[in-house]
Amino acid sequence: MADDYYQILGVSRTASADEIKKAFRKLARKYHPDVNPGDKSAEEKFKQLNAAFEVLSDERKRKLYDEFGDEAAQFGFDEKKAQQYRAYKAARAAGGGRPSGGVGPDIDLGDLFGEIFNRGGAGGVDMGEMFGRAAGGRAAGPTAGEDITATLSLSFNEALTGVERTLSLPRPGRCQRCQGAGQVGTPSTCATCGGTGKVRRAGGILGMAASGTCPTCRGTGRAAPPCPSCQGSGVVEETARLTVKLPAGVHTGSKVRLSGQGAAGSRGGPPGDLYIETIVAEHPLVRREGDDLYLDLPVTVSEAMLGAEVRVPTFQGEVTVKVPPGSQSGRRMRLKGRGAPSLKGGPSGDLYLTLQVKVPEHLSSEARQAAEALSRAYQSDVRGSLQL
Ligand SMILES: [Zn+2]
Ligand SMILES: [Zn+2]
Repeated sequence: MADDYYQILGVSRTASADEIKKAFRKLARKYHPDVNPGDKSAEEKFKQLNAAFEVLSDERKRKLYDEFGDEAAQFGFDEKKAQQYRAYKAARAAGGGRPSGGVGPDIDLGDLFGEIFNRGGAGGVDMGEMFGRAAGGRAAGPTAGEDITATLSLSFNEALTGVERTLSLPRPGRCQRCQGAGQVGTPSTCATCGGTGKVRRAGGILGMAASGTCPTCRGTGRAAPPCPSCQGSGVVEETARLTVKLPAGVHTGSKVRLSGQGAAGSRGGPPGDLYIETIVAEHPLVRREGDDLYLDLPVTVSEAMLGAEVRVPTFQGEVTVKVPPGSQSGRRMRLKGRGAPSLKGGPSGDLYLTLQVKVPEHLSSEARQAAEALSRAYQSDVRGSLQL
């Protein structure tokens, strides 16, 4: 069993979504591969953090995880399957086989376990193949490639505007020499099976001899010599150079899917998908919450008192903002649609400005007189309402 997701993030089981997000960001920055080049333990820790955050940041997955722990992941966070499994376990605990009609939902165990065995991106693994592999044989037919997840760090601004990046990605790729077929040259009678297309598999985990499809010729009885570049697998390790377009509005933890760019399938099987998971850097001045942005806006004492029109930079260009007369420090103003673009194609977030009244740093005698005059302008005690 993997470590507990809550422990990985260092939060309590009752932590709020915000606490989880904060803990993840803090740790992700600390263990990010860019900060710890070549450090395998940091890389492992970073992977664990991402796995934990993916589950605990999703309300539905977190609920299932709380209830089922790691088993929930085996159901692909499918609530229905998890419930079937629970009913199945309950029925077993009660001493029965299948729960009788009317007591619990009908359980399709084949479906349930099929799902579990298919986990890990292996795609079309059938049971026969599983056992063949467990018994030491090679997978007979084409096997789908695994999905790959790569993380990518972006600046705050890049996340808002979208960006194109070129990545060097090590991955199992299709062997160029044999075009993924695993064989080169002219086919002749298969040496492995003597042309029958079948092989006997002895022993195995079930302790039974079984005949299966010949892995070399895939049952055809004829095979070309195995490709020397890939030893017949059709797959070689490669470093792919990929240009990735990341849309505007990504967050830390956003996943962009590149269909078919994962690991190559062996012996002509379809490739897996590549997921680019983004990590967005913080901005020194701007805080982002979802698609909304927060910025402190400094104003002078006189602008706050008398009101003013001030120029404010936004990510969509400069705008003029009206500061109302008599504004107190901390006053919040909203610039609609000036936040981050919505990744889902909805309206953009808003930019919230929080006024910060700045007193002059150097006090001329004139300014001192003005301040003294100001102090007489208060009609009541400014701390009169402080009742703790
Ligand atoms: Zn090859
Ligand atoms: Zn054969």
